[in-house]
Amino acid sequence: MKRLTEASGPVEIHRARWLVPVCAPSIENGAVLVSGGRVIAAGPFQTVKKESSPGARTFDHGQAALMPCLVNCHTHLELSGLKGKISFPQPGFGPWVKRLFELRAALGPEFATEGLRLGEEEILRSGTGLCGDITNGGAVAPLCLTGLERLVFVELLGFNLNSLEEALPPGMKIEEVGAIPAPHSVYSVSSSIISRGKDWTRSRGMPFTMHVAEHFEEIEFLNTGKGFCRELLEGLGRFDPSWKPPGKTPVEYLDGLGVLDANTLLVHAVHMSDSDWRLAAARNCRAVFCPRSNRNLGVGRPGIEKALSAGLNCSLATDSLASNEDLGLFGEAGHVLDNYPSIDPREILEMITVNPARSLGRAGEFGCIEPGAGAKMLAVGLGRGVSRSSLPGALIEAGREGAWKWVSNLPT
Ligand SMILES: [Zn+2]
Repeated sequence: MKRLTEASGPVEIHRARWLVPVCAPSIENGAVLVSGGRVIAAGPFQTVKKESSPGARTFDHGQAALMPCLVNCHTHLELSGLKGKISFPQPGFGPWVKRLFELRAALGPEFATEGLRLGEEEILRSGTGLCGDITNGGAVAPLCLTGLERLVFVELLGFNLNSLEEALPPGMKIEEVGAIPAPHSVYSVSSSIISRGKDWTRSRGMPFTMHVAEHFEEIEFLNTGKGFCRELLEGLGRFDPSWKPPGKTPVEYLDGLGVLDANTLLVHAVHMSDSDWRLAAARNCRAVFCPRSNRNLGVGRPGIEKALSAGLNCSLATDSLASNEDLGLFGEAGHVLDNYPSIDPREILEMITVNPARSLGRAGEFGCIEPGAGAKMLAVGLGRGVSRSSLPGALIEAGREGAWKWVSNLPT
C-alpha cells in the first residue's frame, strides 16, 4: 500500500463498509488515513490501521461508502438569484435568453455578488468541493465560505470586437483579478477573441472553456449567417456586417482556429455530428455535458454515449440555476442513470469526480481518494444489499436522495 508521511497534528482513520477511490477498485471494509487535510493512505481497514501512528483516531462510518467530493466544472454561481424564477421546460434557447435578459435587467447591481453567495451555499450543500465557475465580471470576489474551491472564468463577449481587453467587463484587468478568460461561444465572440483567449490560456497551461454546439440556432448561424443568433447580435448592436458564415460546424470552426486540444472544454456539445466527435477525440478535447439544462431549455439531448465511445474525457456539470433546478451533481448523474441506460454507472461516477478534476487541471488533488489528494470526502449511506457490481449505481441513487454527509475538512 502506497503511503505518504503524516503531517504534524491530528491523524484520522476513516473506516466504512465500502471505500470507493474512483481511480482504483472499490474496497470492502476500507479505510482512509488522513493528516493535514491530505490523504496519507487508502486501502483495507486492517492494513491502514496497522500502518497508522498509534495516536490516530478512528471514525467508523458504518454501512456507508466513502468517496471523493464532487467536482462541478461548469457553473455560473452569480445567476443563483434566479433560482425558481424561470419555469421549465422553456420552449427553446431563444425564449430562454430573452427571459434571462429581462430578469437580469430588473435586478439591481448587487445581483451578481448576492447570487455568488447563494450559489456557494447551494453548491457546498450538494457535496461539491471544486467548481469551475463563469462570471460576467460581477462575481470575481473571493469566496465567502471555506470548504469550496472555485476556479473563476471571466466570460468574454463581443462578436464585433477584436482584443481581449475590449471583450472583458469594463475596466477589468484579467491578471489583477486572478481569473481565466473564457470566450462565451462561437456566435457571441469574434474568431480573433477566441484565438487570443486560447493563446492566453495555452501560454499559462490553463483550461480553455466555451459553450459549444449547445443549440440548433448556433449550427444554423455558422451555416447560413441567419436565424436567432443573427437577430440577437443585431438587437445588441454586436453583429459584424463584414462577417461571412464559415459553413462549418462549431467544432470544425474551432479546429480551423487551432484552439482544440487537451485543455479545451467543449461545454454542452448537444448538436454534434459523428465526424465532430471523431475530430474532438483526435484533438483530445474534454466534453462537459449539462443534460438537465439542455432538457429544461428544450435544446436537445447530448450524445454522451457517442462521446464516451469516441474516447473523450467526459464530465457532467449543472450549468446555472437559471437553467437547472439545482446545482447537485448527484441529480445530474441520476438523470443520466435514468435516461442513458447503456452507460455504465461506474463511468457516470467518474463523470462527477475524476473526469472534471482532470478537465480543470486539478487531477491528483480532487476526484480520487489516493495518497496526496485532498481529504474532502463524502460518506454516502447505503443499504445492506449493495454488492461490488451494484455499488456505483447505488451511490448515485443514494446521493440523489440526499443520503450523504461531508467526512473531513468539513465546510464551515
Ligand atoms: Zn453555461
